[in-house]
Amino acid sequence: MRISTMLATGGLCLAACGPGEPPAQAPAPNSPPADPAPTAPESVDQVELHRLDCGTIEVSDLDIFAADGSFAGQSDTFTNSCWLVRHPDGDMIWDLGLPGILAGGGQQAQGVFTVSMDTTITEQLKARGIAIEEIELVSISHSHFDHVGQVDQVKGARWLVHEKEYDLMFPPARPETEGETGSQFAGFAGLEHETFTGEYDVFGDGSVVIFETPGHTPGHTALQVMLEDVGPVLLTGDLWHRSESREDNKVPRFNADVEGAEGEPGAVTRASMEAFEARAEELGALVVIQHEPADVDVLPEVLR
Ligand SMILES: [Zn+2]
Repeated sequence: MRISTMLATGGLCLAACGPGEPPAQAPAPNSPPADPAPTAPESVDQVELHRLDCGTIEVSDLDIFAADGSFAGQSDTFTNSCWLVRHPDGDMIWDLGLPGILAGGGQQAQGVFTVSMDTTITEQLKARGIAIEEIELVSISHSHFDHVGQVDQVKGARWLVHEKEYDLMFPPARPETEGETGSQFAGFAGLEHETFTGEYDVFGDGSVVIFETPGHTPGHTALQVMLEDVGPVLLTGDLWHRSESREDNKVPRFNADVEGAEGEPGAVTRASMEAFEARAEELGALVVIQHEPADVDVLPEVLR
């Protein structure tokens, strides 16, 4: 299977494909009782954006990330960020990272990618005093392998998804329980979901808005969060993967509007990039490229 196909179908298998839960951790005998986890307030009085670490992706050859060939032979290390948005009316997780089974297991390599992850989203929320079962909402920028990996941990959440991404994951002609695509996204099939096009105002007050940025995938989305102290923040999803991509609007070879697509290759992606930049300019927003360590690692764990 080609890398591009793997990315498009979310099928970078590594050790994580197929059914199975992360192994249960048995307590060591005679171990002292664990410290009680901190308890977060059940609701917050202003919007918060929490940065979660959903892994690291080393890329040995960046060629697929620029259709014009300008990245060929270069290597880079991507961070893989997920986000918790806390709002007085509820909590939402944005992007679901690499598969939880990778947590603490060292590096796994396939093709140009070497991935690793320290801890799961569940553990990171627990450390903040939040039980993942209490998360009401979840949304993903798109359905590639590094953004959907821990869906099995958010069983009770309602999934907000762009209509075209939903149709990509669960083609209308094929039942959810059949076929390669359906089985890879089986964890999503169990979630109550709501589809949208254009943009979705999550809490109805304009503070958290998911907006479509198609091209990387047909239903790719980005996230706008209005914070009281920091101001507007825009999370890019994979509209760009690195700072160098944004400087020159590089379109990856495996984008949906490049590979085997009709029309001018990359035109849909570039239109999304332009619209995103116009929004960022108008808002005076802080733009965070979700895979760019220089954007993500410098942020505090919680932005308000
Ligand atoms: Zn990604």
